[in-house]
Amino acid sequence: MHSFTDFFKGFERLPAVRSIFGDETENVLSQLKVEFFSSKFGYMGVSDEDGHLIVSAYYLREGETVSKYLDVIHELVHVKQFRNGMALFDETYEYHNRPTELEAYKLAVEEARRLGMSDRELFEYLKVDWMSEEEVRKLAKNLGIKVTPKRAQERVR
Ligand SMILES: [Zn+2]
Repeated sequence: MHSFTDFFKGFERLPAVRSIFGDETENVLSQLKVEFFSSKFGYMGVSDEDGHLIVSAYYLREGETVSKYLDVIHELVHVKQFRNGMALFDETYEYHNRPTELEAYKLAVEEARRLGMSDRELFEYLKVDWMSEEEVRKLAKNLGIKVTPKRAQERVR
């Protein structure tokens, strides 16, 4: 376990992060622990046991910078939810409909738009290997991201 602020610098100054924790921002981030794991699979998550951040070291090395940045914003929303006693993985909802996920994605999407990301780029960002194309489309729709229609299949003669 490491200290979040030893590895993730300056997040306490971001308006997006301050919108999550308010005046508690420095306090929460300075107490936040981060655990790294080594696997080619997975990205980031928050423990529903004690609310610490879990990060794939492989993803940190190989992932796209903007994706990693947006993921941190997303996960910090889960950190707040955990602190507020919410169940992070409420299985009565599918992932793309789960209120805790939608809240986390909503802030990440706002931040992405502020950075100038287009809906098409956001749709690409949402794609992960454990969600089907259909589920990603539903998630995008729930987040107000315009999805390009499926390309019409070319007919083969
Ligand atoms: Zn999430």
